[in-house]
Amino acid sequence: MNDTASEQLSEQSLRGGETIRVGSVSEEGGQGGEGEQPWTIYQFICDQALFYSRETLDHIVLVIFIYTLLCLVLYKLLFHRCSRWLKLVRKSRLPATANRALLVTAHPDDESMFFGPTILELRRRNCRIFLLCLSDGNYDKKGPTRRQELWDASESLGIKPEDITLLNATHLQDDPAVEWKTVTIANQILKHLEALDADLLVTFDKDGVSGHPNHSAIYYATASLCLSGMIPNKCKVLTLESVNLCRKNQI
Ligand SMILES: [Zn+2]
Repeated sequence: MNDTASEQLSEQSLRGGETIRVGSVSEEGGQGGEGEQPWTIYQFICDQALFYSRETLDHIVLVIFIYTLLCLVLYKLLFHRCSRWLKLVRKSRLPATANRALLVTAHPDDESMFFGPTILELRRRNCRIFLLCLSDGNYDKKGPTRRQELWDASESLGIKPEDITLLNATHLQDDPAVEWKTVTIANQILKHLEALDADLLVTFDKDGVSGHPNHSAIYYATASLCLSGMIPNKCKVLTLESVNLCRKNQI
């Protein structure tokens, strides 16, 4: 009995040990096999997606780069080599007979940044230039400084100090968010044209060169004077053509 009992006990303990061992193996295998497989597929999909995304992005960047390069080359050819032949760029039409020109700007520094070459060319032709600046450029609270700069720069460009008028009216303050009334500007331009007996008016075009609304407002006032026939007959009107960034920077 003892031998049989001990044999049964050892068999049970053996079976128990096997059961525990097998159980632990199947438990590890169960955790590793069933858990790792979906994770590996998910990781594979992510890796593939990342790979194709990078490859696609590379292609997009390459296409954009080549397209930009082609555009620049074509632009260079059209506007620098063939512009006169294709008549894409208009020649300067400064009248040879202008003696008294009124230049109308919105802020101090407009005369230097945008109209410098025009002023110098008119001065070369012995044309007297009167400058009407509609605001003191106080948007950044630097009005007094910019006012002085206006006189200094104008003197360098050959405009006499007594030929400069800076208005700084209440309704014409330097601010792109403030609408400058067409009629207010038109009245000022007309008053100066007649008082100065000017035979040439020079100002911005509708895009204002830099896109500043105060610049464009002067164009619309000038256009209203032209359309209503109020510009003196002998006075010619010229607007400075706004050009794109590539042309502006001579790329
Ligand atoms: Zn300006």
